[in-house]
Amino acid sequence: MPDPAPGCALVKMEVSGICGTDKHTYQGYVAQYGGSGTPRTVPFPIIQGHENVGTIAAIGGAGMYTDFEGIALKIGDRVIVGPNVSCGTCYYCRHDFPYYCCENTVDYGNNISAETPPHLFGGWSQYLYVVPGSFLVKVPDDLPSEIAVLTEIMAVTVGLDRAKQISAFPSESFRFDDSVVVLGVGPLGLCFAMKARMLGAGTVIAIDLSEPRLEFARRLGADEVVNASRTTEQERLTIVRELTRGRGADVVVECAGVPGAVREGLEMLRVSGLFIEAGNFSDMGEISISPHRHLCAKNVRILGVGGEEPAAYGPSMRQMARYMRHYPLREFVTHRFGLKQVEAAMQKSMSPDSMKVVIDPWS
Ligand SMILES: [Zn+2]
Ligand SMILES: [Zn+2]
Repeated sequence: MPDPAPGCALVKMEVSGICGTDKHTYQGYVAQYGGSGTPRTVPFPIIQGHENVGTIAAIGGAGMYTDFEGIALKIGDRVIVGPNVSCGTCYYCRHDFPYYCCENTVDYGNNISAETPPHLFGGWSQYLYVVPGSFLVKVPDDLPSEIAVLTEIMAVTVGLDRAKQISAFPSESFRFDDSVVVLGVGPLGLCFAMKARMLGAGTVIAIDLSEPRLEFARRLGADEVVNASRTTEQERLTIVRELTRGRGADVVVECAGVPGAVREGLEMLRVSGLFIEAGNFSDMGEISISPHRHLCAKNVRILGVGGEEPAAYGPSMRQMARYMRHYPLREFVTHRFGLKQVEAAMQKSMSPDSMKVVIDPWS
C-alpha cells in the first residue's frame, strides 16, 4: 500500500470500464500514437483501466489536491481520474493543443509499466496511484458511479463540440438539424449518438452488427438503426442516402474501430460533409481509399479525435446527471466483474449482447 509522495494521491477504486482500446490491447494491437513524433508500444506488464471512478484515499505532502475545476479535494471525495498526464513543456503543451497531443503523455492503464514503482497505474486494481500533474474531477453527488464511469467516453465526444464550432463557418457541418451517421454503436458510438441528439442533430442513424446495441441506440436518441450483419455495404449506403434526401449524411462518426469502416463512412458522407474518426485509437492496419472519390471530389472534412479534453469531464458528468431523466443511462453498464474474472469480463465486452462492461475490484 503506497504512501503518496508530495503532489501525488491514492484513489480507492470503485469501478473501472473496459474501453475499446483495452480490447484492442488484449487482442495484441499494441501500437499507439503512430504517425506522431513519439509513437509508442504498450509497455507490458501493465494494469489496464483508464475509465476510472473512485474515492480519494490519501493525499501526499500537505494533503492538498485541487480538482480540474478548482475544488479542494478531501479524503472520501468521489473523483474521475483523467487518463492522460501531459508534461506541460513540449511544443504541443505550450501551444494549447489538447493534453493527449503531448509528446510525453503518461496514460493510466495504458503506457505506464506496472514494473515501475509504486506499480498501481491502472484502474483494474483496488487502488490507483495518482502521479503529479494528473487531472482529477469531482463527481457530482447526484451522478451514480455506474454512470460516472461513462465520463471518459462521453468526453471523447468533444469531437462533436469541435464540429459545432467549425459549423460557424458557412457550409460547414454540424449545424442544427444536420444528419449524423454513427458507425458502430458500442459504448463510444452510443455516447456519440446521445451527444449528437443533445447538440441538436437532425436524423441520427446508428449502424452496428448487434441488435441489442441498436435497440439501446434508439433509446438514446437514434431515429433509424441499420443492422450491418443483415445488409451489404451497398445496401447500407442506399439506406443512408434514402434517409438524407439522396445527398448522404452531413456528419459521419466512425466508432466501429475497424479500418474498413472509414472507407464505408466516407462513402456515406454528402459532398462537403464532415467525417469524425474516433474508433481506431490503436493501430488496426490500413485501408485503401480513392483520393479522387473519397477526398477531393467530395470536398471532405476529416476530424481525427485522438482523445478527450479535461475540460469536457465536468460538463459531461453534469449533462449525464441531467439527462438521466430522459435516457436509460442506468442500463448502460450491462455487466460487472470482479478482478478475478477479468478474462471473462474482457470476453463479455467483445460480445454483441454487452454495452459497457466494468470491473469492480472489490466484488
Ligand atoms: Zn478509452
Ligand atoms: Zn507535453
